[in-house]
Amino acid sequence: MVPLSQPQAHYLFGVMRLAEGAMLSVFDGQNGEWDARVVEANKRRGMLECVEQTKPQTGPPDLWLMFAPIKKARTDFIVEKAVEMGVARILPVLTDFTNAERVRVDRLQAHAVEAAEQCGAVYVPEVAEPQKLAKVLDRWDSFRQIMMGDEAQAGRFAPLTGSVGPWAVLIGPEGGFSPAERDRLAGLDYVQRVALGPRILRADTAAIAALTLWQTTYGDWR
Ligand code: SAM
Repeated sequence: MVPLSQPQAHYLFGVMRLAEGAMLSVFDGQNGEWDARVVEANKRRGMLECVEQTKPQTGPPDLWLMFAPIKKARTDFIVEKAVEMGVARILPVLTDFTNAERVRVDRLQAHAVEAAEQCGAVYVPEVAEPQKLAKVLDRWDSFRQIMMGDEAQAGRFAPLTGSVGPWAVLIGPEGGFSPAERDRLAGLDYVQRVALGPRILRADTAAIAALTLWQTTYGDWR
């Protein structure tokens, strides 16, 4: 038996008007996906009975998305698309030129859950608390390679090289990376700066393009 939280019960029984006996698909990020039956339907609480597993638990490739938060709606968009594109962790990073409003991680995590439900993923990537890029790099485990979307490389297309293993895609803010950040990243041997075509992309477009490039090279699309 699976008890429902109040918001879940409100949505299923108040908004969607499901009644006892109705069937639905459920997942909790750890046990795959199940067909479940409503055994108690109340607008404030509810209970489901899992009937049959329909998908085994699977995880995404070991890929993180690090991005500098931008305007709220576009940050929401990046999180939603990152889940659809198959990332394991989403890490907002505060760069020298980041000028976003406060980042609400609980809100972004809720978007990640919705995106996973919508795209049929049976896992939900963690959305981490925003951290300064410099501090993230201070503590970086060099085993994880970084694919940095670098607009300065635009027009110098080169295929992604490196090795299979843990990766993180890094996308800068609307103002791009600062000269100091650029110098630091260029000097790290686990960072690969990549071009995403000859035009300057908005940060949200760049995140999708970079994840697409990574997925077609190393990911679970192949
Ligand atoms: N301020 C920069 C400018 O005007 O030249 C543009 C920054 S862009 C809007 C935001 C981020 O998207 C960049 O920091 C980079 O990570 C990524 N990006 C955008 N276009 C790119 C491209 N053609 N190649 C690689 N990365 C790109």
